[in-house]
Amino acid sequence: MVLPPPPEERAPRVRKHLSADALYDLLRLRFEKIPDHRGRKCPISLTDALMSAFGMFSLKDPSLLAFEERRNDENMGNLFGIARVPSDTHMREILDPVDPRQLRPLFDDVFRQLQRGKALEPFVFYQGCYLLSLDGTGYFSSSSIHCDSCLEKVSKQTGEITYQHQMLAAVMMHPNHREVVPLAPEPIEKQDGCEKNDCERNAAKRLLRQIRQEHPHLKLIVVEDGLASNAPHILELQKQNMHFILGAKPGDHSFLFDEVLAAWEADRVTTICWTEGEVSCELDFINGVPLNESNQNLRVNWLQYNEFGPNGEERKWTWVTDLEISRKNARWLAKGGRCRWKIENETFNTLKNQGYHFEHNYGHGEKNLSVVFALLMMLAFLVDQVQQLCCPLFQATWKKMGTKRALWDNLRSHFRHFVFRSMRHLYQVMLYDLAKKLPAPILNTC
Ligand SMILES: [Zn+2]
Repeated sequence: MVLPPPPEERAPRVRKHLSADALYDLLRLRFEKIPDHRGRKCPISLTDALMSAFGMFSLKDPSLLAFEERRNDENMGNLFGIARVPSDTHMREILDPVDPRQLRPLFDDVFRQLQRGKALEPFVFYQGCYLLSLDGTGYFSSSSIHCDSCLEKVSKQTGEITYQHQMLAAVMMHPNHREVVPLAPEPIEKQDGCEKNDCERNAAKRLLRQIRQEHPHLKLIVVEDGLASNAPHILELQKQNMHFILGAKPGDHSFLFDEVLAAWEADRVTTICWTEGEVSCELDFINGVPLNESNQNLRVNWLQYNEFGPNGEERKWTWVTDLEISRKNARWLAKGGRCRWKIENETFNTLKNQGYHFEHNYGHGEKNLSVVFALLMMLAFLVDQVQQLCCPLFQATWKKMGTKRALWDNLRSHFRHFVFRSMRHLYQVMLYDLAKKLPAPILNTC
């Protein structure tokens, strides 16, 4: 049953190019450009299979089997433009050989729409630069199921192999905004003879180069944890013309911290103190210290932030950066370094625990299926984040539902029971409770 939309003047506006409907159309057009590896005309197109998997993650279906019930749902055509939804087995077969690199342009397409709509302007952090947090996360681990692209971890004690999938995510963020904007992530892949850490380092190198290639003029400050504050990585960042704020620990950087201590004793470290409620805060910084003994030409600026609570509790963060630190910007740069947690909290945690089922096994495949699914789920998350950031209709519906979980539950339930013309129509019906205003059906009680 098609429900009528509410009067136009009552409905919150949508931003035309950034609405879910416009972005779904955009993604579909890009999917159509991916060559079909089957090389012949098939009853279900690659575009339909990719769009179906994207639709499954947009709807947050918990399994392929749950999604399969939608095969004859009119909404799949109306909202996602899918002509034919494949069965679960067929979807896995079609998507397994797809090269995950062919999905990268989809993230760019959405990003360009954000730029075009000037939606990224509030994300400018410092001197025209955006903060980009990089971090790796695992989403699959098994001792039996594996594919060609699995990482293999061999237990030193038992020799048992654990198969894993991890990816390196790059997420644009800002201390004052809850939303994040993920760029295309990079799978951390097995490379012959390489240790796991090498795999992650190589993935970082590939990712930074790809980002620079895709966004030659984007001004970025890369924010990472203490594992990244090593000379080869910093040199790679410099090569890609990216600024950085990287975590630094005394255990990994004894030479650097000894230099800072000597500077402290010589009164060359600047300290700023203030209070926030009952918490005492202290910032210390010095510019131009060598990163380590073997790279004394590589000078970095050192920044430390301490918080002292009323009961003696202490929290400390330390970073190295190439941005010149001053009394004026030190507090803001520390905020930038601290907002790195958003990649954990607002991205990985949301994907794993807030309805997206990131660690759920939708099917592993033999070649790329696991990676293709993970990328399509990240893409669905990006489109949702754009809605959260830019769409007053989405924001109003989310507010009415109270939580994201309730929002997705309601969305799925409406999707199942009624026919909609567009996502906009669906959100409007949810927002104004139009489904409840239908006359009760006449039931045969005999
Ligand atoms: Zn695998």
